[in-house]
Amino acid sequence: MVAASNLQKNQACVEEYSTVTRYREKCISFLSNLWGNPSEEPLGSATSGSSEAIMLAGLAMKRSWQERNGCFDRRLNVIIGSNAHACVFKFAAYFEVEPRIVPVTEKSNYVFDVDYLEETLDCQTIGVFLTLGSTFTGHYDPVAVVAGHLDDHEARTGNNIPIHVDAASGGFVAPFAPGREHIVWDFRIRRVLSINASGHKFGMSSCAVGWLIWRDRACLPSSLLVESSYLRGAQTAFSLSFSRSAAPVVVQYFKFLSLGMDGYVEKITSLLLTAGSFGRQLERTGYFTCVGPVLQSAETGKYSDSYWCNSSKCQSCSTGDKGCGLPGLPVVVFTFSAAFRHRHPYVTLTDVGDRMFERGFSIPHYLLQGSGDNGSDIEVLRIVIREDTRREVDTAYAHLMETVKDLTGT
Ligand SMILES: *Cc1c(COP(=O)(O)O)cnc(C)c1O
Repeated sequence: MVAASNLQKNQACVEEYSTVTRYREKCISFLSNLWGNPSEEPLGSATSGSSEAIMLAGLAMKRSWQERNGCFDRRLNVIIGSNAHACVFKFAAYFEVEPRIVPVTEKSNYVFDVDYLEETLDCQTIGVFLTLGSTFTGHYDPVAVVAGHLDDHEARTGNNIPIHVDAASGGFVAPFAPGREHIVWDFRIRRVLSINASGHKFGMSSCAVGWLIWRDRACLPSSLLVESSYLRGAQTAFSLSFSRSAAPVVVQYFKFLSLGMDGYVEKITSLLLTAGSFGRQLERTGYFTCVGPVLQSAETGKYSDSYWCNSSKCQSCSTGDKGCGLPGLPVVVFTFSAAFRHRHPYVTLTDVGDRMFERGFSIPHYLLQGSGDNGSDIEVLRIVIREDTRREVDTAYAHLMETVKDLTGT
């Protein structure tokens, strides 16, 4: 209903649809608060998705460097973890910035490996992109740890390098997850200048919308703000597109209103618990090993100090089987266990994925390239636990078991 009645309104008509403009500002203010921004004047954009938000964030990083250094013809670089989403690489390609890739491997616990950071930095580095909730494994990059290294780097060299957090999924998970008060990844870290998230992922909006929030106005070069006044009412925009349906903004606003903080906390907690118990169920079969963070115990997690979760602090950890592991997205990413592989060397995960597809389950299947020992690839399947898939987890499990039995002839 809300979507349908707003589909034809144009976000660019700021005066005609002033309510839409007000809703957008309210969403921006809510997110800015949610992500720990102390600024009184929240600043942000509603975009077509996280991809557009990331292009804009990167562009601002580049322009800021150029204006600060009074230099517009230098080949600049940007630091990106190999776990970054394709659109971050797209930014580098489209806006002509050299991408410098920091490895993400099993050894670095599937997050941005800070040991490789220093060697990538120089005085032409415009910033660092970190991911809150890897698309491939669900892990959160250690934002605070990277910021600490950049602080040291600045103290030594005078080179002040900002961070953008791509929280496409995690921006709507981390602030609502159990133990959320123990994980600091957002504007509470001084070096984080901008954050993006996708409303249509865990923001639970039914229309595609991206959000880009800035720490304050000083982070956004005014040369990128373009004013127009030919539709009634002047507007200053930082966006790649002009006319766009108002529906995504209005739907997101109503989602915020109707769910509220408590609603999001309840839903996200339930998704995380489902992911955790589904993952454990898969591991108990002996066929599979999980790669996702929700299963890794706080004791073995390499980054447990910089994150949250040591059982004395986190309530969910003390509830036994429902232990919440490391913070991450409600995704179950799994591969064959070593024992299974040894017993059935000719069964592949591609076979499992294909058989499941025939049974009506589309489960992404891909390689974590170079993540294993000595640069080998790790082949995985991924199931994202969302509102709409949560109820089908038991059926998926039953079909998976039958599939494995078919393939192994047991
Ligand atoms: C989905 C995703 C994107 C792209 O977001 P869209 O809203 O689909 O444009 C970017 N980064 C990450 C980490 C994602 O998961």
